[in-house]
Amino acid sequence: MAQHQARKRFGQNFLTDTGIITRLVRSIAPRADDLMVEIGPGQGALTRPLMDELEHLHAVELDRDLIALLQRTLSERRLTLHQADALRFDFSTLVPEGDTRRLRVVGNLPYNISTPLMFHLISQIHVVQDMHFMLQKEMVDRLVAVPGTSDWGRLSIMIQYHCQTDFLFMVPPESFSPAPKVDSAIVRLVPHQTLPHPVTDYPRFAALVNQVFTQRRKAIRNGLKSFLAPAEIEAAGIDPGLRPEQLSLADFAALGNAAAARAS
Ligand code: SAM
Repeated sequence: MAQHQARKRFGQNFLTDTGIITRLVRSIAPRADDLMVEIGPGQGALTRPLMDELEHLHAVELDRDLIALLQRTLSERRLTLHQADALRFDFSTLVPEGDTRRLRVVGNLPYNISTPLMFHLISQIHVVQDMHFMLQKEMVDRLVAVPGTSDWGRLSIMIQYHCQTDFLFMVPPESFSPAPKVDSAIVRLVPHQTLPHPVTDYPRFAALVNQVFTQRRKAIRNGLKSFLAPAEIEAAGIDPGLRPEQLSLADFAALGNAAAARAS
């Protein structure tokens, strides 16, 4: 394989473990006519086996040198390379006009941008069929967390509002070159067909969740001061003396809706 000096600032840790690559591709289970996009193809470790299964693949890569390398080494006919920052990329442009397919998004993501990238993708979730990501294990733990645990927080709530999340398997540092300092894991995110706990005012709900977790160790009556009075929290069926991590997604949705009703 052509050599490329890994760039730390682009979060470049290239997958080298063929067993892990095979297992990941099997979990994704690509079908020939899927509309798929890979974020951060790097040197193509995952891109090649995906292309073997697909009629066509899109890939979004920030590093120009890697784009040039991929152009030299992979068939252009079945791969469309987009030299772009995935954080600003409009994924809906990949869905052709009139096409009923939604996007399957995959990637071994640069860990330094994975949280903002997750929120960027959530903002375009209407065009997404599913997502499979390699992430730092701690982040996957937060994505799949349940209420009452230390991993349960803003990320868990905002992502689980939109998606079913599943921890698939762990990936050790030795599976990459250079080896990262942390364990990694694969997560699958599938957008809910019908939102289980819809809110009436999403920006207000998002602001409320954000605000309440800035005071994670305090009773929610403190973090919610600018949104709801203690009596209003109680009227929504929730004990104002609870700490944020003790509340479920349904509780946060109820609080968000109460705050929206109060403001209107
Ligand atoms: N998929 C390859 C693999 O598994 O070997 C590379 C994974 S490496 C962890 C992350 C890749 O994302 C690198 O190729 C890096 O250049 C690219 N990248 C970093 N920041 C990016 C961004 N903002 N938008 C798109 N790609 C980015």
